[in-house]
Amino acid sequence: MTGSIGLDIGATKTLGVLVDAEGRVLDQVREATEQGADGVVRTAELVVAHLGAGSSVGLGIPGLVDVERGAVKHAVNLGVDGEWVPLRDELEARLGVPVAVENDVNVATLGAVALSGIRDLVYLSIGTGLAAGLVLDGTLRRGATGAAGEIGHVPIDPLGAVCQCGQRGCLETVASGRALAEAWLPDGATDGDTPPAQALFAAAAAGDARAIEVRDRFAAGVADAVRTLCLAVDPATIVLGGGVSHLGAPLVDAVSDALRAQAASSPFLASLDLAGRIRVVPDDQPVAAIGAALLGRS
Ligand SMILES: [Zn+2]
Repeated sequence: MTGSIGLDIGATKTLGVLVDAEGRVLDQVREATEQGADGVVRTAELVVAHLGAGSSVGLGIPGLVDVERGAVKHAVNLGVDGEWVPLRDELEARLGVPVAVENDVNVATLGAVALSGIRDLVYLSIGTGLAAGLVLDGTLRRGATGAAGEIGHVPIDPLGAVCQCGQRGCLETVASGRALAEAWLPDGATDGDTPPAQALFAAAAAGDARAIEVRDRFAAGVADAVRTLCLAVDPATIVLGGGVSHLGAPLVDAVSDALRAQAASSPFLASLDLAGRIRVVPDDQPVAAIGAALLGRS
């Protein structure tokens, strides 16, 4: 069995898929991610070995990626910082097949395009942070310096919290998994094994007044991100992804309600039907790994 291999390298787990010529997933494997540059290479090698022969390998990694050189740095959650790590060259030498390296949000965006068949979309990744990937008229937009889609660092509130990037009141300080958890569970409290987003939305659905307030503030922040992206590049579809998107329909409903509320006073905004463009990434599909496989093949 041959096909293209895609790897989604996360801070704790690495997911690998083998896809056929039509992009269908033939096999998938999940392994713990080893930290550090050497650890990432060993993890990738291990997952590829489990999947068998692939004619190419693409990988998505959370960090700053030099696509031309296939190198990564500032992948802080993987223990990779400082110097550029030539991931493509190291893996090509070990695997003997072509390897492509790309930022994790960008490969997820390519995967969302493949799964939806829509070639003009923005993928909004709501994970620990907030970032978007842009495929416009079928072409991935990385930006002149790779910063396209860094929507999480658009400041919206001059009185807001100081962001990790050094600015104040960035979208990420309101509309991210980290911001949601901090607002719902101050002081690092937990709801047992239930992820904060699920616990918050369940409490809000049950009528908890504070939960409704926190949920609605979060949803309004996501809606701000959607509105900004739509007004900047007017994509046909916005796909919500990242860890928080496992909420599914309740997330789409909350963000759609917030978009309609924002449009209530603006016939212009209402005419753009932003709420009608929101989708959530299919929960059962490894969208980033599929996108990585397709990237590696091209
Ligand atoms: Zn910021």
